[in-house]
Amino acid sequence: MQGLIFDIKRFAVHDGPGIRQTIFFKGCPLDCRWCHNPESKKYSPESFCLKRKFGNHISEETESVGRWMSAGDIIDSVEKDRVFYEESGGGVTFSGGEPLLQTDFLSEVIQLSKKSGFHTSVDTCGYASESDLKKIIPFTDLFLFDVKMTNNNKHKEYTGVSNELIIKNLKLLDEIKMNVLVRYPLIPGVNDLVEDIAGLAALVSSLKNIRTVCILPFHRLSEAKHKKFGYTYRMGGTMEPEKSKIETVSEILKSSGLTVRTGS
Ligand code: SF4
Repeated sequence: MQGLIFDIKRFAVHDGPGIRQTIFFKGCPLDCRWCHNPESKKYSPESFCLKRKFGNHISEETESVGRWMSAGDIIDSVEKDRVFYEESGGGVTFSGGEPLLQTDFLSEVIQLSKKSGFHTSVDTCGYASESDLKKIIPFTDLFLFDVKMTNNNKHKEYTGVSNELIIKNLKLLDEIKMNVLVRYPLIPGVNDLVEDIAGLAALVSSLKNIRTVCILPFHRLSEAKHKKFGYTYRMGGTMEPEKSKIETVSEILKSSGLTVRTGS
């Protein structure tokens, strides 16, 4: 079996504990307006014609995004940095796009990762069937689980899908005591109102075992990437959240008994 991968990042330090290799799956069922990896969304290889200007001369070159890889190819890549994982308590993270969009391939590669002795994390938007989720649970050491909004109408408006399945899956992982970090992308004007944070606090504090929320403040780094690949940047007027806003959000969550981290 082969999976569609759009990037592999070595020496990642924000995708789980220690030093990691992050494998980015191509394809995502959501369409978040603030998505930092617009080239990750489509589940097919893509070619982009890039224009570069040197003085009066414009050159064109084609950049391909997405390649088919076997589980063995990925393990060979992850294996290269084994010594760093052992030193730092790191491992491999499967991210995207959405890795659970390619569940059968993810299941194969994550099983192979465990067999090879690597710590495994899955960075997911949580929008997957229960049966797909259950295929990878036995081989996942840590879930980095995005909760983008608890208000379902807003969730539909800003991501294109309902959050019901996502919340159901979060509760399932909590019930069976999986190791989960909830990640909350904090997007000014989208999900940073007091009622948004109160909704998040109410959801996570109602869980039995999951106690940690990582706030991921919005940044504009992907604007250049949108331009490069010819996507419309839909967050034009949105600025990065102020430090005081991040602190306020953090305090609201802490006052509900949660552990809060900023960053990943
Ligand atoms: S879930 Fe992640 S990869 Fe998918 S559209 Fe949203 S931000 Fe982008």
